[in-house]
Amino acid sequence: MNPFVNETHDAALRSWVEQANATGTDFPVQNLPFGAFKRRGSQGAPHIGVAIGDQVLDLAAALDAGCFTGAAAHAAALCRGPVLNPFLALGQPAWSALRLALSRLLRTGAGSTQPSADVAARILVPMRDAELLMPVAIGDYTDFYASVHHATNVGSMFRPDNPLLPNYKWVPIGYHGRASSVVVSGAPVRRPVGQVMPDGAAAPTVGPSARMDYELELGAIVGPGNALGAPIPIGEAAAHLFGFVLLNDWSARDIQAWEYQPLGPFLAKNFASTISPWVVTAEALAPYRTAAYARPAGDPAPLPYLTDATDQSLGAFGITLEVALRSATMRESGASPHVLSRSQATDLYWTVAQMLAHHASGGCNLQPGDLLGSGTISGATKESRGCLLELAWRGTEPVKLPAGEERRFLQDGDEVVMRAWCEREGSRRIGFGECLGTIVAATA
Ligand code: CA
Repeated sequence: MNPFVNETHDAALRSWVEQANATGTDFPVQNLPFGAFKRRGSQGAPHIGVAIGDQVLDLAAALDAGCFTGAAAHAAALCRGPVLNPFLALGQPAWSALRLALSRLLRTGAGSTQPSADVAARILVPMRDAELLMPVAIGDYTDFYASVHHATNVGSMFRPDNPLLPNYKWVPIGYHGRASSVVVSGAPVRRPVGQVMPDGAAAPTVGPSARMDYELELGAIVGPGNALGAPIPIGEAAAHLFGFVLLNDWSARDIQAWEYQPLGPFLAKNFASTISPWVVTAEALAPYRTAAYARPAGDPAPLPYLTDATDQSLGAFGITLEVALRSATMRESGASPHVLSRSQATDLYWTVAQMLAHHASGGCNLQPGDLLGSGTISGATKESRGCLLELAWRGTEPVKLPAGEERRFLQDGDEVVMRAWCEREGSRRIGFGECLGTIVAATA
């Protein structure tokens, strides 16, 4: 029995927005992800919207048209834009009330509060006419390292005899990232210039990174959060998780290799991180909740402050993630992005609730709109390695692209496209849309 599932997840629900019923759409009526947008070319302020099929529902317009009452109206009133933060601060009951009202507004049949055609025309914007913007003002960004396969692969390149450090299975490892350079899908990503130490050289050089990489991650968006000094118990952590985006933690491996000791990544990762524009709510993902990672025999059990029965039985999410690459040559010839790898969020060693509870356990205050990255999501097989560093094994096994090109690391003009979706018998498939970024040449 999954207590997180409710009527909004019913696989039989259909929408009067026809495209929301299409096979393979990311945005059926069971999904209802939140984002920020404005009409293309408009000078107006951004609005908060909800993706439905090939349309965006404008929450402010729907509120003004009388589509919501009670708690849902109160919640929608905090979604006038330009970002989701005031709504995130409201917490789970308000998020749920608005989701239920949206589900009833957008569905057909029993329980529907379908609007008139006139109102429908006023509250929907075709997605092709919408410019998607940063959905959240991110106050703080923390990136974890929760894929044991990624940590083992990367560790084995540098320490073949001892790939996993002794703290890994006890502490959700993370570092504080840079919030100001988090950008939304579609924004160009400029190759950074930085200090590197060439093999065998006596002194470092400064120049454009020659080892640009992507990292395939999930980003968790924090809800209410906690006061300074007041930790979030693990049993309450799920209530502070609003939802997820795709996250590309762009990494300059040559800059990273020289600068990372002893304090970890700095300029190698702070020049840009890309997120997808639609925040898929934790509630939408309820049918895809599953048991936490099964620790192999001999691994320590999580410490009590990271252990909760519900989190252990339903704290992981069955999300498939994919990364694809399209070079400038491929784009010019009209080729589609070439899929490089697929991995599973269930391969994360720690649940998001464990990461969140650990983050706050020392008294650090999480705030509405904080972004928590999962770390690169890699699986046990080569086909499931979530960054080029692993996939091309430090450049020693170049990745082949369909037209004969090879990649050890990213080149200028390369477009990296990440996608994710959830599929399961008896539930409606939902998706995350795209997280896209194209590498542009370093500033001379
Ligand atoms: Ca990362």
